[in-house]
Amino acid sequence: MFDKILIANRGEIALRIQRACRELGIKTVVVHSEADSEAKYVKLADESVCIGPASSALSYLNVPAIISAAEVTDAQAIHPGYGFLSENADFAERVESSGFVFIGPRAETIRLMGDKVSAKDAMKIAGVPCVPGSDGALPEDPKEIIKIGRQVGYPVIIKAAGGGGGRGMRVVHTEAALLNAVQMTRQEAGSFFGNPAVYMEKFLENPRHIEIQVMADQHGNAIYLGERDCSMQRRHQKVIEEAPAPHVPARMITRIGERCAEACRKIGYRGAGTFEFLYENGEFYFIEMNTRVQVEHPVTEAITGVDIVQEQIRVAFGEKLRYKQRDIMFRGHAIECRINAEDPFTFVPSPGKIEFYHPPGGPGIRVDSHIYQGYRVPPHYDSMVAKVIAYGDTRDQAIRRMRIALSEMSIQGIKTNIPLHQELMMDARFVEGGTSIHYLEQKLADKGEVKH
Ligand code: ADP
Repeated sequence: MFDKILIANRGEIALRIQRACRELGIKTVVVHSEADSEAKYVKLADESVCIGPASSALSYLNVPAIISAAEVTDAQAIHPGYGFLSENADFAERVESSGFVFIGPRAETIRLMGDKVSAKDAMKIAGVPCVPGSDGALPEDPKEIIKIGRQVGYPVIIKAAGGGGGRGMRVVHTEAALLNAVQMTRQEAGSFFGNPAVYMEKFLENPRHIEIQVMADQHGNAIYLGERDCSMQRRHQKVIEEAPAPHVPARMITRIGERCAEACRKIGYRGAGTFEFLYENGEFYFIEMNTRVQVEHPVTEAITGVDIVQEQIRVAFGEKLRYKQRDIMFRGHAIECRINAEDPFTFVPSPGKIEFYHPPGGPGIRVDSHIYQGYRVPPHYDSMVAKVIAYGDTRDQAIRRMRIALSEMSIQGIKTNIPLHQELMMDARFVEGGTSIHYLEQKLADKGEVKH
């Protein structure tokens, strides 16, 4: 096994990776910005290296500084976590060409999946169902574009091939608006993502977001670890995730999961990955693949018993997957609430000092967080400060346990979205299960109207 791993990330995921390393007997190096110097998880690591000032562009995205930190500390592998450089193919390449192992897929796989047009092509070849739309990128010829629009059928969505983070997308309801929308999305795509290619998809009106977790080794083995429902979103940001997805027949998950595992074998995938789908009227439609560990991985760990981060490290080292598909049993139900330092109703970020902290506990409760009393939430990064995961034999039990956990949890000195989660755990439609990706925004909009 590796002797020492460098963790190129911060916050709860840096701590999560550290814990996985510890259990495997691996020493850890944490790199950090000046803003994170005092954080406890930094002190918990065997070694830490300051790689730059608070601004992520100069620290967590500073490739030369991260590579030198790995060199001076004699680390053998680099775990990128999520966000930051985790899906940057050039970084993965630099890591490997500098003689370290990148804990993730090969750079060329990241590149293939980072371009949504090539990703969709690869998925079609592997027999994964995709949202109907243009065959690859849209051509220049306006007549051709109009023709494709008619074939796909309105409403359609124009998406940037290089898009990410919910940007570079435009919904079009009528043919009259099509060419203008294509031109505008192209321009945006060119300036935001450095790639003006756009493609067209049928716009699904009321889908759910359901994703499949996969894990593959370097010996051609790949399995799926079931699904997660991440439909509770605001501005394309996930707020609550759960596994399994309510009211989706298990045989449908088996079918789509097997296709995803097969796709991994076909593209020579390695490590953990997630296939994201929109799910509407009993059909799955692939939208994109994330080639890294996800924020919401603990709900899958809860229902399968597989430690996804440890498995990532093992397969990066070259070990064979320790599980065959038939070893994977899905048991119980898990829900994750993302606790953010923000106003629960205006969503304005609320960084600052945590004056009092009391985490919840009890049967079935897991808290993944790097915060503590006296910790200062820096204003420079993502506002997520904790993840609370509740596990139960049934979805009802998981919800009941989550309600108790949220009522016990106390974070004072900053505002958090705990009250929003408490409200959602009591929401009749959430309790029923199966709400669409528009549900939360609709609910928030309705509430706003009632208030005024
Ligand atoms: P990004 O990489 O920017 O997150 P995605 O392709 O994953 O982009 O899409 C983000 C979100 O946009 C989806 O979760 C969904 O809410 C919406 N979306 C994307 N494609 C479609 C579509 N064809 N129909 C309806 N909504 C879509």
